Amino acid sequence: MAPSNHLYNLFEAAIPRRDKTFIELPEGGHVSFGDLFDLTAQIAAGLQARGLTPGDRVAVQVEKTWQALALYLATLRAGGVFLPLNTAYTDRELDYFLTDAEPRIFVCDPARQATATAIAANAGVKHLETLDAAGTGTILDGTTKGAVLEPVARGIDDPASILYTSGTTGRSKGAILSHGNLASNAATLVDLWRFNADDVLLHALPIFHIHGLFVATNVALLAGARMLFLPRFDIEEIMHLIPRATVMMGVPTFYNRMITRDDLSCDLCSPMRLFISGSAPLSAEVHKEFSARTGHHILERYGMTETGMNASNPYDGARRAGTVGMPLPGTDLRITDPETGEELETGAIGMIEVQGPNVFSGYWRLPEKTKAEFRNGYFITGDMGKIDADGYVSIVGREKDLIITGGLNVYPAEVESAIDEILGVAECAVIGVRHDDFGEGVVAVVAPRNGTDLTEADITGPLQMRLANFKQPKRVVFVDHLPRNAMGKIEKASLRKTYAGLFTD
Ligand code: AMP
Repeated sequence: MAPSNHLYNLFEAAIPRRDKTFIELPEGGHVSFGDLFDLTAQIAAGLQARGLTPGDRVAVQVEKTWQALALYLATLRAGGVFLPLNTAYTDRELDYFLTDAEPRIFVCDPARQATATAIAANAGVKHLETLDAAGTGTILDGTTKGAVLEPVARGIDDPASILYTSGTTGRSKGAILSHGNLASNAATLVDLWRFNADDVLLHALPIFHIHGLFVATNVALLAGARMLFLPRFDIEEIMHLIPRATVMMGVPTFYNRMITRDDLSCDLCSPMRLFISGSAPLSAEVHKEFSARTGHHILERYGMTETGMNASNPYDGARRAGTVGMPLPGTDLRITDPETGEELETGAIGMIEVQGPNVFSGYWRLPEKTKAEFRNGYFITGDMGKIDADGYVSIVGREKDLIITGGLNVYPAEVESAIDEILGVAECAVIGVRHDDFGEGVVAVVAPRNGTDLTEADITGPLQMRLANFKQPKRVVFVDHLPRNAMGKIEKASLRKTYAGLFTD
């Protein structure tokens, strides 16, 4: 019997039929499960020929192609640790990741090869290979069609991937995700969201992040579903493809943009069974408007690089706007006092801590940091939230986003959702800015809807009825757009920097 490779064997066992289409490409090509797994076996043989031994890292910074997915699966198959990197990372950032992770093999876009050569050599990378946007490159050299490497034995605790967290402050840390972490989370989500082999997933997320790779792709693989695989989010293409899909997974920005379209309608979305949102807070207003326009209640879920998914709104029950639903089966989520770690009563705001088979074992080569982020066996997420009497979890912000003004705590999410309801507001971010008198002053950064002229009073007026005085913004600034990272998260650190002198200069 072939040795067991926990995650890889699970995917292989889930292949519905070799000739069934797994991926449809926008330009019209089809990739069957057989095509994908044959290329996987071939690349795995090539990785081993390059000296890959179990536990070695394969760092990858390439465009989104189905061949890149084969490279992911090949790394698992060969017993390696897959380390995807955001294509937007600069040479300096690349230098940091390669030096920190010490991969044996680094695969990059050919356009990057010239500058990456010195960086990779400096970091001790043995093989620098390429894979381009058309799915060809030197990573395929030296392997022959039909070459097969039998899956290398890997157990549930063995590392499958390292993902560097997108943390906007401090040094990026590599979260080590095991075969068991990824397998258990994917299996739970397939059940919870009722994925099956008839599903067609509209996939417009990047595959260097947990959302596009481990939530979307792993779930589709395990369900034997089909994916409409877009290189990036393109609103025209999305509107065009929706009638051919059954499920979409997106970040809130996708939905923010979709509701600006006149052609978004119940009719357009009628073949769809599920819209899922995550990676950043979905505004309750957008949730409501999307429901009104399409008849679909977006299912919002909550997760992070270190833990995979932790909570989800229900498939059958009420999907409550502004909440991320209940903890996933098998995942224990609790709210604690950030200082003492004591569990808090229902409804109280505190630190979200999680425990379960989805939770990572630690950060790459940072045992002290790892130790500091666990308490009584629970991972301290850094997200502040609460659980209501029905078990729904709401996130009120990141610990470091918390604003303390005149000694009182203000949770930005509460102020943001009040501002989002004001007519003419497209989006907003609430931050704390140094204030000589109050320590921090609440500042609202507001992007009006196209063509709307808003004044400070238009924002502060309605809030007087809604929020306690200390929570109301002391200043409102208007911008065209809020700065966001690749996953649609608002870059609050950059806003805090931009407006640092608002009260003191
Ligand atoms: P990442 O590790 O890049 O996936 O980022 C994880 C962080 O994104 C979490 O710790 C949360 O702060 C945030 N996040 C993810 N999903 C949601 C959500 N549905 N609502 C609010 N914040 C979210």
